[in-house]
Amino acid sequence: MTKKYKLNFARDVDTDEPGVLILNLPAGFRFYDELCHTRGFESRAELNDAVKWAVIPCDCPECQKYQGA
Ligand SMILES: [Zn+2]
Repeated sequence: MTKKYKLNFARDVDTDEPGVLILNLPAGFRFYDELCHTRGFESRAELNDAVKWAVIPCDCPECQKYQGA
């Protein structure tokens, strides 16, 4: 089963901190280079780029819990 993360800016990006966009991946996805579901970006372009190549499906216990698996 392969699924692809699709950015939902309003739901997944925290813009409360000035100058940084914090992407909180929903359950079932993580960043490929570490077991991490949240990452800060300095620009929208940087964030979009990461969404394209750095997000992979995740089935860690935490994701399974929140997906109700
Ligand atoms: Zn996970």
